[in-house]
Amino acid sequence: MSAPLRVAVVGSGPAGFYASDALLRSDDPPVSVDLLDRLPTPWGLVRFGVAPDHENIKAVSRAFEKTAARPGFRFFGNVDVGRVVSHAELLERYDAVVYTVGAQTDRRLGIPGEDLPGSWPATAFVAWYNGHPDFQDLSFDLSGERAVVVGNGNVAIDCARMLALTAAELARTDTVAAAERAIIDSGIREIMMLGRRGPVQAAFTPPELQELGELAGADVIVDPHDLELDPASADALEHDRERARRNVELLREFARREPKGLPRRIVLRFLVSPVEIVGSGRVEGVELVRNELVSERGRLAARPTAARETIPCGLVLRSVGYLGVELPGVPFDEETGVMPNDGGRVTGAERTYCAGWIKRGPSGVIGTNKKDATETVDALLADARAGRLVAPSGGDLGELLDERGVLFVDYEGWQAIDAAERSMGEPLGRPRVKVTGWDELLDTGRPVQSP
Ligand code: NAP
Repeated sequence: MSAPLRVAVVGSGPAGFYASDALLRSDDPPVSVDLLDRLPTPWGLVRFGVAPDHENIKAVSRAFEKTAARPGFRFFGNVDVGRVVSHAELLERYDAVVYTVGAQTDRRLGIPGEDLPGSWPATAFVAWYNGHPDFQDLSFDLSGERAVVVGNGNVAIDCARMLALTAAELARTDTVAAAERAIIDSGIREIMMLGRRGPVQAAFTPPELQELGELAGADVIVDPHDLELDPASADALEHDRERARRNVELLREFARREPKGLPRRIVLRFLVSPVEIVGSGRVEGVELVRNELVSERGRLAARPTAARETIPCGLVLRSVGYLGVELPGVPFDEETGVMPNDGGRVTGAERTYCAGWIKRGPSGVIGTNKKDATETVDALLADARAGRLVAPSGGDLGELLDERGVLFVDYEGWQAIDAAERSMGEPLGRPRVKVTGWDELLDTGRPVQSP
């Protein structure tokens, strides 16, 4: 049998693992995969994005473990592509490179006051409570009585829910200690979520919305007037098969509820946009404009009216979507935040592919990445079979990393981190206690030199 095709997959979140899995299943040609990650730990947003109280969603990592056990798989953690090794150097060492680096930053609102202390991208808050090693020095002031979450997606819901969890709800999770303490001790009594469009256009999904109504320590409040639909939304709802219809049903049920007087309230507002974040020296409030919906290029868009109001608050989490980041030497579309591509083949770059959020933008659930990665891998394997992937002349990546004095965490190193975390969590009844510092991660992961 011919030597396996050698593929580097960069980014070890769901798209990276699904791409690796599809590659390792190929026998025409057989493929070996080196999966690289900037962090010492794999799983990407399954570890650092999925909310700590969603342990059932994190269970997808068991499928990733099976992929990692396949012959021909190697993990290189703590290898920052673009910094310690370039795209060109990967191309010298691999027949093909697949980028599955996700969307590593946040979209901005572009309004005055956005950078006032106390106004944060939701991505930073999420990374903080989830133990991302780059976000552990942050300190969120949760002393104000009201927090405002801008956006109507599942990340906004995650943030609102996390801020409302009780000590007992948090105790079962792997929320990092500092965040858990801050949430328990927080002065926040009201979390207000702001949707710029109406309830029919909300991006969140019904199971996530439903959970807001099942929290032990928070009432969910919806103003019935916000659920009076304009004709175009009512028509859209008629034709909706599932999401919007179920969301609106749930919202109507929330609107009918008598608040129980629980310690916190989650207030869902619609058709409002922040126009300015106000405060002298730090966030003191958000100025909102009331919107109306207008038909624009085949969709209902939010158009501001003259009606304004100011909501006092001490914290703003801006949750209006993630955004991809350019990787040096690889084509990138600034406008859309993705690598320009045709079915996963990166346009204008030889032997270079992409999958996941850096391919299609930050949308869909974890499972969406499986189909997406399979499409990319099918294109890659077709190119290999057509002889379009030229065998590289360079050596093993490990040797290059050795030369540069870069220690990397291999899969066994990750398994050591995983075991240490699980054993710390066990006596506490938690799935794990995360190791969060770079030094501690690298110590526990016993970084190695070339395999
Ligand atoms: P998202 O689903 O795209 O939602 C972004 C929200 O921000 C939308 O409501 C959008 O409104 C709003 N928005 C955008 N620009 C805005 C602006 N300038 N002003 C006000 N609002 C603005 O993104 P996400 O919440 O970051 O989630 C990313 C992906 O991860 C989604 O596919 C999500 O379902 C998934 N996810 C899933 C889970 C889960 O399954 N539990 C958890 C977290 C994330 P418009 O619709 O008007 O643009």
